[in-house]
Amino acid sequence: MDEGTQESGCVGLDRHDLCPDAECCECCGRTSMLRATTFGTSLGVFCASVCATCLVAGRSPRWGVTRVVERVLDHCTHLGITVDQMAVLRAEWA
Ligand SMILES: [Zn+2]
Ligand SMILES: [Zn+2]
Repeated sequence: MDEGTQESGCVGLDRHDLCPDAECCECCGRTSMLRATTFGTSLGVFCASVCATCLVAGRSPRWGVTRVVERVLDHCTHLGITVDQMAVLRAEWA
């Protein structure tokens, strides 16, 4: 890897087409109208499947810090980046 800057095509942290879908809404447990989406938190960006109702209501899964950190790491895996790269990308986002 050289240090070539990626002007374009850098991984969008809010990308979720590579993320697996959960079987039920991670907010309310509903099993229909699910949609993978991403949530930005102070700990990082993670993906979760939520139902249309929760999505429209702007609900996000209410997880503890440990769970969120795990899911941030999972999402890095989905994107094929490291948590360090995510930190860099988040800094660029801000
Ligand atoms: Zn829901
Ligand atoms: Zn993901």
